[in-house]
Amino acid sequence: MRLSRFGESFGHGAGIVQLMDDLGRAAALNPDMLMLGGGNPGRIPQMERRFRERMQRILDDGDAFERVVGGYGPPQGHLRLIRALARLLNESLGWAVGPENIALTNGSQSASFMLFNMLGGQGADGEPRRILLPLTPEYIGYADQGAEPGLFTAGRPQIELLGRYQFKYRVDFDNLRVGNDVAALCVSRPTNPTGNVLTDGEVTSLRRLAADHAIPLIIDNAYGVPFPGIVFTEATPVWDENIIVCMSLSKIGLPGVRTGIVVAAPEYIEALSGMNAIVNLTTGSFGPELVLDLVESGEILDLSREVVRPFYERKAMAAVARLELDLSGYPFRVHKPEGAIFLWLWFEDLPVTAQVLYERLKARGVLVIAGHHFFPGLAGEWRHRDECIRINCSQDDARVHRGLAIIAQEVRKAYDE
Ligand code: PLP
Repeated sequence: MRLSRFGESFGHGAGIVQLMDDLGRAAALNPDMLMLGGGNPGRIPQMERRFRERMQRILDDGDAFERVVGGYGPPQGHLRLIRALARLLNESLGWAVGPENIALTNGSQSASFMLFNMLGGQGADGEPRRILLPLTPEYIGYADQGAEPGLFTAGRPQIELLGRYQFKYRVDFDNLRVGNDVAALCVSRPTNPTGNVLTDGEVTSLRRLAADHAIPLIIDNAYGVPFPGIVFTEATPVWDENIIVCMSLSKIGLPGVRTGIVVAAPEYIEALSGMNAIVNLTTGSFGPELVLDLVESGEILDLSREVVRPFYERKAMAAVARLELDLSGYPFRVHKPEGAIFLWLWFEDLPVTAQVLYERLKARGVLVIAGHHFFPGLAGEWRHRDECIRINCSQDDARVHRGLAIIAQEVRKAYDE
C-alpha cells in the first residue's frame, strides 16, 4: 500500500493509534483487566433506563422508527433537535443563540477535526497556521488530528500546590505568546485528562487574548454545563460570537450514538455544515432522536444535575480519599478534581517514567494512561510529563478500588526500590 502524506499521518505511526492498539490488545489478552485507562463513561442505570424507554417509545410509535433510520437529514444536522438546543441554551444559560448558531456532527471528535483543519494548516498566503493550546496537559484525542504536521503549539501551565496532596494547573499568561501564526485557541473545560476547570478569570483572559488577535476561542465542553454537567466547582459557561463551543452526548452515557454539537457564529456553522456534507453527507439522526424529548422538555438538565454529576463526583472523591490514604507519606499529588471523569496523578521525582509505571501496571492487570501522551504541541523537555498518569474512575466501584490499590503498591515500590 502506498499512502499519501495525508494517509500516512493517520496511519499506525500516530501516537493515539498505537496507544489504542496497545490498550485494546491488553484488554483482549486479559479479560479480567482493570480498565482505568480509556475514556468510556460509566454505566448509570437511571440514564440507561431513560434511554431504553425513549427507544421503546420510538419503536411503538407507528412508523417513527422507520422515519428515524430511513432518511438523510440536512448537513447541519437534525433540525428539530437544533431548535430545541437553541431554546435550551437560551433559557438555561442565557446564550443568545438561534438554530443558525448550531451544527451537529458525528461526535465531538469529528467536530474538532473539522474545526482544527478548517482554521489551522497552510493558509491562503502559504504560511502555516496553528492551533494554540494555552494549557497542557490537554486532551489526547487532539494530538494527531492535524492533516498537516505541526498543527499544535502549546503552553506549559503554572502549578499551584494545594494542601498536602493536591495541586491545580493554571494558565501561565506571563509566558503565553500568541504569534501571528496562531489561528485559534483551544481548551477543554472541564479538562480531559486532569479534571481541571479553568477559572472564570482565566476564561475572561483567554477571550480577551483571542479577541485582541482576531481569532476564535474554542471551548471543548464535552463534560461541561448544561449537559452532562460534570462540574464540581463554580464555573460560568460562556459563549459569544468569537467563541466556538463543542458539546457532546457521549458523557451523559451515549458515546455509541456519535453525536456532537457545535455552537458558534453562523459563518462557522455554515463552513462546518459544508465540510460535514462533503465528509459525511449528514450527521446520524439516531442520537438526536434518542434525546429529543429530554432536550425539548429540559429534563436533560435535571438528569445532568441530579444523576450524572453526583455519580462522577462521588467516584472521584472516593478515589482521591483512597489514594491519599494508600500513598500517605509519599511525594504524591492528585489534580484537584473539579470535573470530568478522570483523576490526574502526579508522582514527583518518581525514579521510573510514567511509561514504565504503565507497563508495570499493565503486567499486574491494571490499565492506565501514561501522562506524556497528553502534551500535544508542547516543545522542549519537561520531566513533569513523565511523572503523571491519568486514571478513569467511572467503572464499577469494586474494580476501580482494586485497581487503585495496585497502583498505590506499584508506586510505593517504585519510590522504595
Ligand atoms: N473532547 C474531550 C475533551 C473528550 O474527552 C472527548 C472524549 O473523550 C471528546 C472530545 C470526544 O467526544 P465524542 O465522543 O463526542 O467524539
